[in-house]
Amino acid sequence: MTESQSKSCVKCGKPVIVTENGYVHDGGGMYEQVCRNCGWSGGQVGSYQRCPRCGDQTNLIDNHVAS
Ligand SMILES: [Zn+2]
Ligand SMILES: [Zn+2]
Repeated sequence: MTESQSKSCVKCGKPVIVTENGYVHDGGGMYEQVCRNCGWSGGQVGSYQRCPRCGDQTNLIDNHVAS
């Protein structure tokens, strides 16, 4: 069997893809970010400086790195 391209993040179970920068969440970013203010979670390439849902800048934390 050959290694499959599809892989799941060991931390959150979401699909991850391999890029030149390493693992990233499919449709998201390397970091899974969580807003402790409104409960939003997600990511993008790079990282958000503020929550895209509520705009909070101080409660947005990096939850984990895709792996
Ligand atoms: Zn993850
Ligand atoms: Zn928020």
